[in-house]
Amino acid sequence: MNQITEDFRKLRLKPTKERKGQQEELIELNSQNAVNSRGTEGKWLKFVVISDTHEKLVKILDKIPRGDVLIHCGDFTNYGGSAAVSKFNELLGKLPHQHKIVIPGNHEYGFDTRESAREYVTRVTTKNPRELLTNCTLLMDESIEISGIKLYGSSWHILHGFPFYCEPGAEIREKWAKIPNDVDVLITHEPPRGFLDKGLRGQTYGDVELLHAVEARNPKFHVFGHIHECYGAMTNGKTTFINAAQLDRSMQTEYAFYLSPDERKPKWAQIPADVDILITHGPPLGYLDARAKDQHYGDEQLLEAVEQRDPKFHVFGHIHECYGAMTNGRTIFVNAAQCDRSMQTGRLPIVFYIRIPES
Ligand SMILES: [Zn+2]
Ligand SMILES: [Zn+2]
Repeated sequence: MNQITEDFRKLRLKPTKERKGQQEELIELNSQNAVNSRGTEGKWLKFVVISDTHEKLVKILDKIPRGDVLIHCGDFTNYGGSAAVSKFNELLGKLPHQHKIVIPGNHEYGFDTRESAREYVTRVTTKNPRELLTNCTLLMDESIEISGIKLYGSSWHILHGFPFYCEPGAEIREKWAKIPNDVDVLITHEPPRGFLDKGLRGQTYGDVELLHAVEARNPKFHVFGHIHECYGAMTNGKTTFINAAQLDRSMQTEYAFYLSPDERKPKWAQIPADVDILITHGPPLGYLDARAKDQHYGDEQLLEAVEQRDPKFHVFGHIHECYGAMTNGRTIFVNAAQCDRSMQTGRLPIVFYIRIPES
């Protein structure tokens, strides 16, 4: 199990009886306003999350904790507009975080490129918003990797009549299908169904399709805002959900969390893209890796690395029971383990040919 999961398992969960209509268990913040602590071993990145500042970022600017990565989950303006976007950008420039990641929310008129087609009442036009945001990285259905940690940001939501609106069901499901499977930190504007998504009277605003997409991928963190009344953090045991909406009756404390870069992923990332013969000790998941039916020992991240590169051959051993060769049509997988389970030899070496490239 990865360190972060261990870490937040230890957190005490506190019930929030003061919130009407909510039975959720909220994660209690530690003295650094963080949902977990930095581990004692290895390198850790500190993430700080804010959302829904609605042109009031200036009020909390001095309170925002320092950290390596600042994330804003959208609604930094009230109705978009070049002046408001530029002002936001100027304030971001005063913050010390090395990486600043921003997604637009439903209040950022002018960011949704389909706006004219959708006949939104564009009260204020924002010309070339991407060019105005020079002090951050804007993610619109895009990923960014920071020290091997993958972040993905997307603004779609199901609140009718605003930019980035999608119909609940198939239309928005298609948008969430683009979320990479190996995302570590998912950034959306709207909440998923059932997590920090309720209004004051208990009405639910969360998106069930987004919930399904999250549960299929289990990112370490899912951060969002949008439902101002539901500022807080929760976990389902696999993902920590953070609604970082700042704008309530009073401004809220900013959230922080820590993540250590995944130890294995960067290693497989070093495999050259043009490798012809990949040699590892262990098998990738699903190829000559099973001790018994449904008992797979292969490495999922190795499989992903192989499928991204399509070497001609991937040779390995390690799982003695699985001596043999298989193909996925692009790569031939060879498990050349010479000993069987009881360490008896007698198998043949596996031979293959590769044509020498002509120069
Ligand atoms: Zn908002
Ligand atoms: Zn919103």
